[in-house]
Amino acid sequence: MQKIKDLVNIFNNNQKKLISFYKDLFEKITANKKYNFFIELYIEEVMKKIKSPLFYKKYKNKPLFGVPFFLKDNFTVNGKITSAGSKILEGFIPNFDSTVHKLLTDDGAILLGKTIMDELAMGATGLEAKEGYVLNNLDTNRIVGGSSSGSAVSISLKVASFALGSDTGDSVRRPASFLGIVGFKPTFGLISRFGLLPFSPSLDTVAFFSNSISDARMISKTLFHFDSKDFVCQKNPKLILNKRVDSKIHKILILKPHSKSVKKENNDFFNDNFVVKIINEGFNVSYLSLPDEITTNLLFFYQIISFSESLSSQANLTGINFGFNHKNHQESDFNELIKTNRSLAFRKELKRRYTLGSFFTQQENQKTFYLKAMKFRRYLNDYFNELFNKFDFIIHLSTFDVAPTIEEVLKEKHNKTLVTSINDYLIIANFLGLPSINLPLTKKKDLPIGINVFTRFNDDYFLLNFAEILEKIIIFKKNKINN
Ligand code: GLN
Repeated sequence: MQKIKDLVNIFNNNQKKLISFYKDLFEKITANKKYNFFIELYIEEVMKKIKSPLFYKKYKNKPLFGVPFFLKDNFTVNGKITSAGSKILEGFIPNFDSTVHKLLTDDGAILLGKTIMDELAMGATGLEAKEGYVLNNLDTNRIVGGSSSGSAVSISLKVASFALGSDTGDSVRRPASFLGIVGFKPTFGLISRFGLLPFSPSLDTVAFFSNSISDARMISKTLFHFDSKDFVCQKNPKLILNKRVDSKIHKILILKPHSKSVKKENNDFFNDNFVVKIINEGFNVSYLSLPDEITTNLLFFYQIISFSESLSSQANLTGINFGFNHKNHQESDFNELIKTNRSLAFRKELKRRYTLGSFFTQQENQKTFYLKAMKFRRYLNDYFNELFNKFDFIIHLSTFDVAPTIEEVLKEKHNKTLVTSINDYLIIANFLGLPSINLPLTKKKDLPIGINVFTRFNDDYFLLNFAEILEKIIIFKKNKINN
């Protein structure tokens, strides 16, 4: 897939090219159906739209004119099925548009369809959707990583310029690492979440996949937009700082993986090849091992916060007003009916999370769990603020290894959707609302592993500028290997 800038240029000058491009594209997507990454394609509507002279006249010269994209199935589109991988929302057709869909289409982008995801965005594998497993196009025996798995595959297959996901703990950056693509989670509050079905509202962030940093920058320009319908949306997202990166001034901190299970060769690659290149660029690099009280508690407190929040944010999913309602019910009252609907509709993983969430927030347990998690979040914030007084960018391996096989994941005895994310630091950026991006770094036996960079609140364009420097270093290195 060409860069967004080039595609827009081609289409601006030639409607015929636009039409033939989409004919070929839908053929290519359909030919890749076996990876089970999309729910439905809007072929007829798209073809009708791009053939219309009115559309061409109105949208020509818009920044994303004719650019194809997918939406994860937890974003609403007026009149289109939106079920977020869950039986509880089976057949749900919203009558309103998510703000992101509106912004993107107003800027000329073309929605191809919706992508398959782990149920209500609670998952780390791509194996937890009502539509079945999303398959990893690089190796079908391995997981994609969730929960935005379908969107990730669409970009890895290069059948869209970008695809939206949501990232509450790692759901965009983790699959991006496993598939060797760009996955960007911007600062909390820069992109409106109106029309995104909530999971854990204090962590949920609209995020997206692309094939390059320059594409990510163009998409950000459209999506960073104030929206009064999301009460945490920042007032002037377009005004966020666009600092230049100067290698003589800016300092980098590398977080060492904490887990003993990290294979030596992964660590070595990260230390030797890549870091030497950054130092050669003139950056000052330091290393740090995070204290045990952070590394051992991250996942635990993430679970407390996200499971507790999901309990209330998803309490409206009763199957009564919309979505799944089991037939022939004989329940005597309303509560019984809700209980039956939820018991029949939700997968085991969700029931586990709701049960734990109720436990964490019960009055007698709040002090031990929920309030402690709040304190931990404050402590983490202070700890990283201090680091950001000295360093500009923090880098770590996004995932400490390549994508595990489906068999390995299914064999994990407990907690299968979360265990696979224990070893990574991606959650930190969600706790603190910071911008964080995955870039493809290397390949091990033909399977990718990414690096993740994060920086200060609202320094999103500064982060993208730095990521572009890294992107060049990495491409340079890859070419060298290939030659
Ligand atoms: N993997 C994490 C979980 O299962 C995060 C999911 C997400 O970011 N939506 O909760």
